[in-house]
Amino acid sequence: MVDLPSARRAWLLNLPPGMGVPVMKSPCSRSRRRLLQAAGAAAFSPWLAATAAATGRRTDWAVAPFAADVTIPIGHRCMGILPTKARRVLDPLEARGFVLLGPERPVVVVAVDWCEIRNRSFELWRQRLAQAAGTNPARVFVSSVHQHDAPVVDHGAQELLDGVGLKNELFDPQFHRKALARVVAAVEESLRHPRPVTHLGLGRGRVEKVASNRRVVHPDGRVDFSRGSGSGSVAFYREAPEGLIDPDLRTVSFWHHDRPVLALHMYATHPMSIYGRGEVSADFPGLARRLRQKDQPEVFHIYASGCSGDVTAGKYNDRSPKMRRVLAQRLHQGMVRAWEATRRVPLAKMRFRTVPLRLPFRRDEPFSEPALRRVLENPQQPQRNRILAAMSLATRHRLRKEPALDFGCVELGPLRLLLFPGETFVGYQLAAQRMAPEQFVVCLGYGECWPGYIPTREAERDGFVRHSWQWVAQGSYRAMTEAMEQLLLRKG
Ligand SMILES: [Zn+2]
Repeated sequence: MVDLPSARRAWLLNLPPGMGVPVMKSPCSRSRRRLLQAAGAAAFSPWLAATAAATGRRTDWAVAPFAADVTIPIGHRCMGILPTKARRVLDPLEARGFVLLGPERPVVVVAVDWCEIRNRSFELWRQRLAQAAGTNPARVFVSSVHQHDAPVVDHGAQELLDGVGLKNELFDPQFHRKALARVVAAVEESLRHPRPVTHLGLGRGRVEKVASNRRVVHPDGRVDFSRGSGSGSVAFYREAPEGLIDPDLRTVSFWHHDRPVLALHMYATHPMSIYGRGEVSADFPGLARRLRQKDQPEVFHIYASGCSGDVTAGKYNDRSPKMRRVLAQRLHQGMVRAWEATRRVPLAKMRFRTVPLRLPFRRDEPFSEPALRRVLENPQQPQRNRILAAMSLATRHRLRKEPALDFGCVELGPLRLLLFPGETFVGYQLAAQRMAPEQFVVCLGYGECWPGYIPTREAERDGFVRHSWQWVAQGSYRAMTEAMEQLLLRKG
């Protein structure tokens, strides 16, 4: 354990030297921000200005990597409802991403070491980053890594809680404003120094003994989803098979000829080894990413969680500090294997597609507006229930105004990079790979997080319905499958 300032210093020192990668540790001044916004991204980025001035399309490419500190302050709520708030910071939470610049409008990808970003807060992130990068919000992929000693943010829900005297009980909007400002400033700064790239690298590597499915079959034949992140200390959960997982980590990299510039890693598992003690940490995926960053200081490394609503480290993890390090090493090994297997192709053609995804909200009575209001407004109710009621109401309000969410796919040569909502189960990631067997399909999870768990049809049949962290109605797999088919199978 280290104190916050020294942890941040260590993190800053660990950044790749000489890359020109900006790290925002404090928000840029209001006047500077206003100036940049008024000028628009093109005015301060020679790259974007040249793009705008050019007649016809450019054929050259660049990436602008960025990083910012988004560590929650001591005393901040974790995972929206956990009883123990942040007590100390073991290592910082980061937002790490890049802007891809090329013949089309820019695309932004950012992985945030937070639990979840929902509804109006998710829109705010997309809008602010789109504005900073000179693109539209649909082309901004915001993916939470989903650590649990990290915040859940939803402005609509926090406003409802403010109204019943529960200020800052879901999250602290002031902290959020500063954190997002740092990310926006980092994007703006990165666009001053975009790094030319010529090739796309694609590689996959096996990860041994990390992921396992929540689903287990008991000796009496009963099936449930009771294997949690720390179940490995119980013999039954330790000995039960891994179940349905995607065993491979996938790495997408950008190169300037034979020099690697940036690597985005994705693996499908919940990212927690230990949580609930108020010890803020980017956990084992954060540690693995930093190990890889140390291996290759000249490459900018990003880690995102795949579709892993039903996948955790539960078979292997006993919640000991030692296992956190072991899991980090195993994940790091997968990154190394994916790197060794990487094949490069010249960057040539990009297309961005998005389809509206309409997921139905839960229809059972406790999720009706009057029932939720009663819980929110009742001081006798446990705080946890009131916070969950506020989150549910905020989603109901959002869905009245905007029933669909953007489900997007970046097509870049053989790459298909998709951002899935919420806690999508791993079955969808595997189905996406089957739909496009000739392509290199990379699924990022935990985009718009209001849905909570999104089970597959098979999981529903096994009884995964009406979980307390699930806001979609039964049968949501129909909309999910249809939208995936539109993105991956439909031509034109
Ligand atoms: Zn989760």
